[in-house]
Amino acid sequence: MADTTRNVIIIGSGPAGYTAGLYSARALLEPLMFAGYMSGGQLMLTSDVENFPGYPQGIGGPEMMVEMREQAERFGLEVQDRNVEKVDFSSKPYGVWVEGEEYRAESIIICTGAESIWLGVEGEEAQKGRGISTCATCDGAFFREEEVIVVGGGDSAMEEATFLTRFAKKVTIVHRRDVFRASKVMYERAANHPKIEIKTFRSVKSWLSDESGLTGATLEDPRDGSTENIDCTGAFIAIGHKPITRFLEGQVETDESGYIIHKENTMTSIDGVFAAGDVVDTRYRQAITAAGMGCQAAIDAEKWLESQH
Ligand SMILES: Cc1cc2nc3c(=O)[nH]c(=O)nc-3n(C[C@H](O)[C@H](O)[C@H](O)COP(=O)(O)OP(=O)(O)OC[C@H]3O[C@@H](n4cnc5c(N)ncnc54)[C@H](O)[C@@H]3O)c2cc1C
Repeated sequence: MADTTRNVIIIGSGPAGYTAGLYSARALLEPLMFAGYMSGGQLMLTSDVENFPGYPQGIGGPEMMVEMREQAERFGLEVQDRNVEKVDFSSKPYGVWVEGEEYRAESIIICTGAESIWLGVEGEEAQKGRGISTCATCDGAFFREEEVIVVGGGDSAMEEATFLTRFAKKVTIVHRRDVFRASKVMYERAANHPKIEIKTFRSVKSWLSDESGLTGATLEDPRDGSTENIDCTGAFIAIGHKPITRFLEGQVETDESGYIIHKENTMTSIDGVFAAGDVVDTRYRQAITAAGMGCQAAIDAEKWLESQH
């Protein structure tokens, strides 16, 4: 066991984690961060970020995350690039286990994000964050006057498709059934849009690309296995997100999908345990909102610690 009890341990190193780290370091709480298996978080997967204020020319996702880390470290954030395996919030100070080693802290800030669910089909890995995205708000503007497809049949797919009509010449929604989980109003808004075509009974079998990037997809009809090729230079997968909360093993209250629930400001169901960013956010899922919540969580943790002494 590490010999000192920390004021605060931050779990996760995306925009929420680094902002929480920056604020708690500047508040002289000497925070310790476990950056996790994907140091820097989801923005390590994208090339250009154009919607984070302060970068008029845009900035590469990985570059932005390196700068966030440097800024927080400058004020004393200690970062370990290791994964938290389990936690114990049943007694104070709270326990955090990393590669079998035990750490204790008075307060914890959980910033472990959410994973987009990808299709996992041939050709996807090479085009992730280039032609294939899971966030229309983030990447839609890169596809002006191009043909794009949206995969999915829920509200997110309809919303992403309708949003993309602002930029794209044509948007094709690809859905493996003819029944949609989307609400009627969202479905109809998409279905009645002149730029949107809906292809039912189609799933993506593989992505097609050349040296210029994504060029299309091979679609398969699940009823008979027949295939067709469709042209597109952009694709948006909208089949859901999974919050990364498995390692918490029921230690904090979550909703039925696993998203952590805030009880008071950014505090979870456990006193002194806070959560920020995509791990609680089923709606906005942006770097700026995650960073904003990381700031809130650090301020909440600081005030809570003060109230304990
Ligand atoms: C391809 C792509 C492009 C995007 N483009 C944009 C964009 O242009 N603009 C924008 O605003 N948003 C964009 N987003 C969304 C944005 O990346 C997220 O909203 C943001 O990163 C969420 O931040 P976060 O800090 O909550 O979590 P994340 O960035 O998801 O970070 C989670 C962190 O938790 C860590 N972690 C997980 N489990 C553990 C564990 N057990 N122990 C320790 N650490 C752990 C991971 O290593 C990671 O560091 C994009 C997302 C994707 C996937």
